[in-house]
Amino acid sequence: MGSWLGVLYAYRNILVYRNRIFMKTYFIVLSIFLSIPLVACTEKKYSKYQCPMRCEQDKTYEKPGKCPVCEMDLKGVE
Ligand SMILES: [Zn+2]
Repeated sequence: MGSWLGVLYAYRNILVYRNRIFMKTYFIVLSIFLSIPLVACTEKKYSKYQCPMRCEQDKTYEKPGKCPVCEMDLKGVE
């Protein structure tokens, strides 16, 4: 009877240990996956910025900011 409990206990310990490794790997993989879209978003740089309402027709700006006419945030142009 005692040996059976020992085996069960050892098996349980293995499961707990494996679960810990799994959780660690899971969090590492999760953080990598979460950082990919963030990096992709911040890496995207535009050379020109333009008012989304096109108040000044095709006038573009070199830096992001607000449109002097409608005060809307300028949008990046490819
Ligand atoms: Zn505007």
